[in-house]
Amino acid sequence: MTDSTQITPELSVVVPVFNEARNLRPLAARLASVLAGLGLSFEVVLIDDGSRDETLQTLRELNAADPRFSALSFSRNFGKEIAIAAGLDAARGRAVVVMDADLQHPPEVIPQFVEKWREGYQNIYGRRIGRATDPKLRTMFTRLFYRLIDQFGDVALPEGAGDFRLLDRQAVDALLRMRERARFNKGLFAWIGFKTIGVPFVVERRAFGVSSFN
Ligand code: UDP
Ligand code: MG
Repeated sequence: MTDSTQITPELSVVVPVFNEARNLRPLAARLASVLAGLGLSFEVVLIDDGSRDETLQTLRELNAADPRFSALSFSRNFGKEIAIAAGLDAARGRAVVVMDADLQHPPEVIPQFVEKWREGYQNIYGRRIGRATDPKLRTMFTRLFYRLIDQFGDVALPEGAGDFRLLDRQAVDALLRMRERARFNKGLFAWIGFKTIGVPFVVERRAFGVSSFN
């Protein structure tokens, strides 16, 4: 599937997708209405990471209805880090938003990202507040994981930062020049630097389906 619009969009939204068939239409509807309000031309690049449900069919239908929604499709499940990398590769915008497909990253936060981008920030991350959706144990392990990374690495990961963010084209190009195999995007996003700021947001509950967190 390809985007038939000829002009280069100002804003790209990159979404890794694994077995999210039921979330895609609500996601697309919310994105379309939020992005229309921004007065920017946009594209949404969805990467089907080897889904086994109706994801690919749904993406085809979304593309047919609105070519600004385009899709890449992997032959098997490669994991979301690789899906995001492929999306960044395909994205053409002057700015690129990365977000999850399960509506845990509310599209309504994107205008705040864009506002910061217009102020000159190049690496704008969504900072999770009130992570009430996490089971206690997972929260504990997540904290421990980040504390370990913090101790052993020289790049501080901002607390509450995840994949939900806006990157300026310069930052995207810096990422694309890196040839990392084992990708850990959150770490890379922090490592590249650039003028960085966090925008707080409340993580929503996953709309449909189950988390494939590991
Ligand atoms: N995802 C993916 N490939 C995978 C697992 C997940 O592309 O192998 C996508 C998934 O569809 C979602 C995002 O990555 O858009 C985050 O996944 P998930 O919600 O399972 O993780 P969590 O929010 O629990 O960390
Ligand atoms: Mg999720």
